[in-house]
Amino acid sequence: GPAVVWFRDDLRVADNPALRAAADSGRPVLCVYVWDDRSPEVRAPGGAARWWLHHSLHSLAERLEAMGATLTIRRGPAEQVIGGLLRETGTAAVYWNRRYGSERRIDERIKTAAREGGVEASSFGANLLFEPWTIRTGQGGPFSVYTPFWRACLAAPAPRKPVAAPARLTPASRIDGEELEALGLLPTHPDWAGGLRETWQPGERAAHEQLRRFLADDVAAYADDRDLPGVDATSRLSPRLRWGELSPHQLWHASATARDRSNAKGVSTFQSELGWREFAYHTLYEHPDMATVNIHRRYDAFPWPRLHPAALHAWQRGRTGIPLVDAGMRELWHSGVMHNRVRMVTASFLIKNLLVDWRHGEQWFWDTLVDADPANNPFNWQWVAGSGADAAPYFRVFNPELQREKFDRQGDYVRRWVPEWDTPDYPEPIVDLAETRRAALAAFDVVKSAR
Ligand code: FAD
Repeated sequence: GPAVVWFRDDLRVADNPALRAAADSGRPVLCVYVWDDRSPEVRAPGGAARWWLHHSLHSLAERLEAMGATLTIRRGPAEQVIGGLLRETGTAAVYWNRRYGSERRIDERIKTAAREGGVEASSFGANLLFEPWTIRTGQGGPFSVYTPFWRACLAAPAPRKPVAAPARLTPASRIDGEELEALGLLPTHPDWAGGLRETWQPGERAAHEQLRRFLADDVAAYADDRDLPGVDATSRLSPRLRWGELSPHQLWHASATARDRSNAKGVSTFQSELGWREFAYHTLYEHPDMATVNIHRRYDAFPWPRLHPAALHAWQRGRTGIPLVDAGMRELWHSGVMHNRVRMVTASFLIKNLLVDWRHGEQWFWDTLVDADPANNPFNWQWVAGSGADAAPYFRVFNPELQREKFDRQGDYVRRWVPEWDTPDYPEPIVDLAETRRAALAAFDVVKSAR
């Protein structure tokens, strides 16, 4: 029987341990992707993420084709689909790279059932530098503070070297599958993806080119400029990591290899940002429901006022009258990403000036980001809200006007996305910053006194 490789958040052929194991098994290889928007354990990707996924799958299929194999696409609840496929093909072995949220329960059930049926089932660490169960405090528990967490990671055995892509694959007999187009991942009426097409080229090859350019041109100034949204200083590799077109191991080793006297600080800072991604995933591993449930449960007592749909809508559309917030929300709508500094400011404005429950903002980001990530997105929303792991204290409210003066001093970023800023066409702020800040702090007193 064939060896099945089940692709999920690892849409690459290089540094893909599951694919490598299948190739090395000497068996014919069957590559599968399952579009699963049915299992309750899986959070179905939002609109922008589906756009990315479509194109990334297309590119993966081409790469596998060039290696002699086919990517078979099926749809439905993964447990049924993979189970059925194993029986139908007389599979000898099934390989995948691990997931860390609630989906891992599906994987565990499939693994158990496969082994009971005499099928070898193996999972690999491919999408994190450090497996969650290997980084523990002195008491044996998970870390809840980033700095000691990252120190423990740096003291742990170094991340393994990337594994090479197999040169050729022996294809298994073809089986029925869906056409990629039939999954309906792309928008049709209206087609809102023009800005995404302008901004991105999904796929492994483009991802490597982007990494190469970042290390050659930008990493040296990364530590100094990464907070300036008007400067193209960050890697913009987040969707590559989200979909696994690149692994963190590849980023880790490529940046370490590129390190020299001129860029050492940039490389370390960049690697410590990868550390925040690790921390978010380790937190997800402990709190699989963190997209909906406060990590610090005393925040459940927060007295969110009744939702004002008009305020939420103004925020979503970038029409709040606060220039840095509007610039960020428009960048997001157009390009499917937003600069990290501005993500913090827009999130803080929604939660603390509009007093909208962070889950509404998290959901909007989930639907509009091409890098919408099951760990990074809720982790960072809870970080801003104050309810998360090692979060910003609630009472630290960003002032979006001071943030603009500090990080977009010349106004390059704001003018790029809000060209009518400083003209009579630009709206007045929908709320008073000082007054709403006071209201937020008063609401927070309820949390402080909750136990
Ligand atoms: P770089 O500065 O080049 O950093 C390199 C990589 O490190 C990133 O690609 C990312 O994988 C990781 N990283 C950097 N900062 C963080 C962070 N704060 N937390 C976790 N990982 C980090 N990131 C996502 O990938 N997906 C999300 O859905 C997401 N939602 C966010 C929501 C909010 C409210 C906030 C404040 C941040 C969010 N982030 C998210 C984190 C961060 O903003 C993005 O990872 C970053 O802006 C991506 O740009 P870059 O690739 O150029 O980052």
